[in-house]
Amino acid sequence: MPKMCAFCSNDAVEHGGEHGWDDWLNEWLPVTGYTAKYSSTTGEKREYKKKRLEMQLSVVCERCNNNWMSQVTKRIKQTFAYAIRDGSSLCILPTGIALLAAFTLMKAVCFNHEILSEDEEPFFTRACRERLGKSLEVPSVALRMWIGAFQGKALHSTKASPMLLSSSAPPLQGMQYFAFTYVVGKIVLQLCAGRWKNVHHRGGSIIPMLAPDPYWDQAAIKFWPYTAPIEWPPPKHFGDDTIQQFINRFKDDIKLR
Ligand SMILES: [Zn+2]
Repeated sequence: MPKMCAFCSNDAVEHGGEHGWDDWLNEWLPVTGYTAKYSSTTGEKREYKKKRLEMQLSVVCERCNNNWMSQVTKRIKQTFAYAIRDGSSLCILPTGIALLAAFTLMKAVCFNHEILSEDEEPFFTRACRERLGKSLEVPSVALRMWIGAFQGKALHSTKASPMLLSSSAPPLQGMQYFAFTYVVGKIVLQLCAGRWKNVHHRGGSIIPMLAPDPYWDQAAIKFWPYTAPIEWPPPKHFGDDTIQQFINRFKDDIKLR
């Protein structure tokens, strides 16, 4: 049976699909060879060493991919291309923040669907995914996002790390969290979403959210739910040694604050 599009009721394409890292980056970033790391707590690990950023996620239909998703990609390029390539500083205003939130959620959903096994349900509800596709609506409940800056030894880097987290110890018992870190050039995006494991508990009950250690506050600015315009880059940046700790910050320290 063909897979369903992550954002609508059409069938997903069998080949091609959404670029893990957008195609325009191939022309925009000088080609030096890329390493794209991709890992998940389900134990799956993939590493890409390529001359071009070719990874494609066959989880969406052609119509979504060629319309609203490609519009989001175009707008991201217009606003963030120099920040991604050169680390050029930015003041990100409300429209830019809404765009960044839609982009981060779009990539998180695609990577979530890419790693789903057949008996696993997608982390984000169908209503949430359809609203993103229809109107770029991003929920402000049980969903948080941060932006940071990355300066590794390699001229350009890409990383994607989706993780499904849960704990059997109260008060986190019964909860599930999806943490997703996405590095594109000099920009680091991170998302953490929560839900009840049991479907019958969903709807109504407040979802306790994981709060990261304040240690990271100088390097990762929270941008969703929206509070104020953002100056990027933040005072501190991530390097090759700290980015992995940042990727694992919810996994290694799963608790409420
Ligand atoms: Zn679709």
